Amino acid sequence: MKIRQNDKVMIVSGKDKSKIGKVVKILSNDNKVLVEGLNKVKRHVKPNPYKQEQGGIKEIESPVHVSNVRVVCDACANPTKIGYRFTEDGKKIRYCKKCDENF
Ligand SMILES: [Zn+2]
Repeated sequence: MKIRQNDKVMIVSGKDKSKIGKVVKILSNDNKVLVEGLNKVKRHVKPNPYKQEQGGIKEIESPVHVSNVRVVCDACANPTKIGYRFTEDGKKIRYCKKCDENF
């Protein structure tokens, strides 16, 4: 998966389309990512006396499939495609296919 934790991503479909958030979790088995503050769903929560939690409706982030997000490049601030290339000492690095900056 080309997306990494802490990447900035833009959601490209659904109700949060064109919103940008930070990737807080990668779910590589499902090809999904959890984006901070986005793709929230309402969940009914039962009161949990052990954790002193109140019941009710909570909004929690739901994972987004990687095909529905684009990484936002720090350098050009555009949602972009990521490419891979190798440095002179053989390190694999990612780069922005729009502005050609490494990141
Ligand atoms: Zn760029």
